[in-house]
Amino acid sequence: MGDTGFIPYGRQDISEDDIAAVVEVLRSDFLTQGPKVPEFEAAIAGATGAAHAVAVNSATSALHIACLALGLKPGGLVWTVPNTFVASANVARLCGADVDFVDIRASDYCMDPQALEAKLSSADRKPDILIPVHFAGQSADMKAIGAIAKAHGIRVIEDASHCIGGQYNGQPIGACEFSDICVFSFHPVKIITTAEGGLATTQNAGLAAAMGLYRSHGVTRDPDLMETADAAPWEYDQVALGLNYRMTEMQAALGVSQTRRLADFVAHRQRMAKRYDALLADLPLILPWQNPDSYSALHLYPVLIDTDKTNRTRREVFDHLRAAGIGVNVHYIPVHTQPDYQRLGFRRGDFPVSEWYYDRAISIPLYYGLNETLQDRVIAALAEALA
Ligand SMILES: *Cc1c(COP(=O)(O)O)cnc(C)c1O
Repeated sequence: MGDTGFIPYGRQDISEDDIAAVVEVLRSDFLTQGPKVPEFEAAIAGATGAAHAVAVNSATSALHIACLALGLKPGGLVWTVPNTFVASANVARLCGADVDFVDIRASDYCMDPQALEAKLSSADRKPDILIPVHFAGQSADMKAIGAIAKAHGIRVIEDASHCIGGQYNGQPIGACEFSDICVFSFHPVKIITTAEGGLATTQNAGLAAAMGLYRSHGVTRDPDLMETADAAPWEYDQVALGLNYRMTEMQAALGVSQTRRLADFVAHRQRMAKRYDALLADLPLILPWQNPDSYSALHLYPVLIDTDKTNRTRREVFDHLRAAGIGVNVHYIPVHTQPDYQRLGFRRGDFPVSEWYYDRAISIPLYYGLNETLQDRVIAALAEALA
């Protein structure tokens, strides 16, 4: 990409080694259900300190089987945040359960533990599962959220789609210190990619086995899981109602290769974000706060138009940047304001902090291939848009 080309907000970085790893699989015996998926799972388990990792074809699938493994059923209830991609909420509904939201806090744009306490104390129905989202790559306040969940007997799934390679409280994200299951996405805009792909980590062998079943039709040949006694060699048992959410061998090989570069990817994002912090400090923007207890994977660098300091609207700034060839985006339209959620009775005004955030936010480019020359173009265009 040249110095005058379009600069996206995020994109993958594919090396010759990544390409060779995929081609090698194409020449091998297994395109699916071979050795690469377990190899990728072991690599992510190793990188996160989780005892178990279950790779699937998307983070949405991982969230879905995580809910199923935790026993979510029709009539159940999940609480997540409005400031997320729709998938974090949709998976509850795919299980036939209801979904509701806890607002974010204005510091880290993640689930607000105080709002969670307040909602729990006045709720006539407690959720079965909480899905906090580690927005932009920075962990939610899991010490507080985990403690509240524990006190109320609520299970926790971390939606860590933004933060493979990040850390919290001195541990890699995915170690599940304050949760039952942690889910990652490997969509090309995320930190590492398998094209489409996702993965769930857990320290609990039972949950890992259940997710393994739901990933593949609820069918097993594992003697420990089979119900048929003295099974013939060709027999498999369907012991649950499952799906086909399997990751392919090509995807897993790409994942293994990308995982070798994970630390570099995150370090680069950290460097470029610090440069944004310094060079955008004088503009009428609210820059993303970085929690000293966290090492953010920095999936996104969201800036908020500081409406106390400028009359420029978010729309004006967004349009100016797009016209300058900067592929800015907005993360996220609050889920409760989507038409399909309005039909469930949610209204604008229900979650004011998420709405305050959304009204001002623009995600500016941050990815491994972003260099200082390209970044300077983004900064100059932003200064011009706000002048
Ligand atoms: C990307 C994303 C998802 C969905 O990931 P897929 O792998 O595309 O299914 C879910 N939650 C969040 C917060 C995301 O950013």
